[in-house]
Amino acid sequence: MVSSWPDCWTSLQWDYFRITHTFLLCEGGKLGCRICQTVQTLGPNRSSEGSSTKRNLAYEWVNVKIDGAGNTKSARQKSLREKVRLHGESDAHKDAEKILSTRSKHFMQLTVIQQLGPSCRLPTASPGRWIGGRPPDMVASCDLSG
Ligand SMILES: [Zn+2]
Repeated sequence: MVSSWPDCWTSLQWDYFRITHTFLLCEGGKLGCRICQTVQTLGPNRSSEGSSTKRNLAYEWVNVKIDGAGNTKSARQKSLREKVRLHGESDAHKDAEKILSTRSKHFMQLTVIQQLGPSCRLPTASPGRWIGGRPPDMVASCDLSG
């Protein structure tokens, strides 16, 4: 039987791990990274950010292939713990976190505009009003009275 978490851990240990490392993903006993996987699957939009977005997302973490190395249970536990820690601190993972938070902010702004309707003036329509090269706050530029 394939357990839904790494078999060197008890369900309690796994619960603890996924609560303290919210990016963890598990399929068929292998670990992966939710955040890296999401960034990887964001799709064609990535190309608009330039070629630098060919990032070094860790293949094994994106494809849920992380396994503990070692002959004994405790060796595998140690190996997995170390891999999880290293991944959480890796540049690739931190990059993915940044992309995701930028995107969710962007998504929220779009949602606000959609909810406010057409009376909302997009800052891009009046570039003269941009402050310091940045658009004024989107919500502030909306006509909320209508
Ligand atoms: Zn990651």
